Amino acid sequence: MMDTGWRQKYLRNIPAVDKLVAGCQADGNAYPHALLVRLAQEAAESLRRQIMAAEREEELKDIKISPQEMIQQVQGRLRQLEQPSLRRVINATGTVLHTNLGRAPLARQAAAAAKQASGYCNLELELKSGKRGLRYSHVERLLTILTGAEAACVVNNNAAAVLLALNTLAAGKKVLVSRGELVEIGGSFRVPEVMAAGGAQLVEVGTTNKTHIADYRQALDEDTALLLKVHTSNYRIVGFTASAGIAELAELASAHGIPLMEDLGSGLLLDLSPFGMEREPLVFERIAAGVDVLTLSGDKLLGGPQAGIILGKRKYLDRIKKNQLMRALRPDKITLAALEATLRIYLFGNPLQEIPVLYMLTASLAELERRALRLAAAVREKAGERLDVEVRQDVSVVGGGAMPLTDLPTFVVAVRPKELPVSEWAFGLRTGNPSLVGRLQEDWLLLDLRTIAESEEEEVVLCLS
Ligand SMILES: *Cc1c(COP(=O)(O)O)cnc(C)c1O
Repeated sequence: MMDTGWRQKYLRNIPAVDKLVAGCQADGNAYPHALLVRLAQEAAESLRRQIMAAEREEELKDIKISPQEMIQQVQGRLRQLEQPSLRRVINATGTVLHTNLGRAPLARQAAAAAKQASGYCNLELELKSGKRGLRYSHVERLLTILTGAEAACVVNNNAAAVLLALNTLAAGKKVLVSRGELVEIGGSFRVPEVMAAGGAQLVEVGTTNKTHIADYRQALDEDTALLLKVHTSNYRIVGFTASAGIAELAELASAHGIPLMEDLGSGLLLDLSPFGMEREPLVFERIAAGVDVLTLSGDKLLGGPQAGIILGKRKYLDRIKKNQLMRALRPDKITLAALEATLRIYLFGNPLQEIPVLYMLTASLAELERRALRLAAAVREKAGERLDVEVRQDVSVVGGGAMPLTDLPTFVVAVRPKELPVSEWAFGLRTGNPSLVGRLQEDWLLLDLRTIAESEEEEVVLCLS
């Protein structure tokens, strides 16, 4: 009751919006008037909320309310808005497929193709006939040649691919899935939820650690539209385990005239086990083993842009392509151009050299050590008085929910500021431009050479100094 006096006094002292706008225009800048009004209103409103939230007058003794201070705040908001929000990051985390950092970096050819497609292009025009074409036609042939599938189409991401396939092939019907495969991938993709969104009814078979072909056979009835296998990309069930094989599942499905679908997650086209990585199923092996509909991501181990790829038998793909949802889930021309260029590398180029994800995953330890020593020497030379610098052996991970058991031996440059808390220093690096993101470990920042491109090393030295 008694406190309203001071509160009213503060509220009355908030400078008028037009005064703030005039203050921001005093230096003759050409910002849009409506923008300045909007930012001035926001600053005034935030001050008002602060005043209303205070319970006692003392809480407001440091409040910045003078016209001068408020104008500075508005100018701060302007500067923030002027900085691009999406900016380049130097990934020194050692996680190759880092979903928060945009997963796979594109190959040079893919980036060039995306740039070229950014103007007009023949996205849906058959140049020979002059008639309307299909957007996924630009990649369908490459995909079928590379994987042995009869047909293919592409949507926005793999979650969309699973949704579209389930909705087309099993809406209103039952889908059998092993209890060991009810996967959650990074927060919002969970098999049961996607199933519900696609309008299909999930029927769990088997147990968490063991599911046999007989469990599927027993659960199958006339209402069953699909057998679904989900690759447990980001976890493994080890020990006393069993799961039905693709060949026997394919046989069971075909005997009942229904498709076997598999959500493969990462789409690996090349065997990376000679480089010390887990043996992941390869796309063409699954097609050859009899999977009728296969879905995978474009931006995981395939190393391309964000996309969902659906491969399989023509009779099922024809139905999927006609689903009305296709329109809502279709990819844009930039994605398709980048995907086409990436696939061409697999067919005509040298994928282990030219696709950054594969290059990073297969980098040799000796090469990583050589680069770590060189980077450490350059950092010592430029910033040795202010930083402790060490070269250490460590491990990087594949990331992106792929190969969870694979630890890749690597070399890192460990740096530690002599006079600043490491978290404060790492904040500065992270919010710089380019942003540099490493791995914090105790009071060191680790910079993993596996995910730093050779061409970025000089920039890393600049960021650190
Ligand atoms: C990653 C993954 C998904 C989701 O793919 P997005 O391309 O991220 O939509 C779905 N299923 C599996 C098995 C995955 O590994």
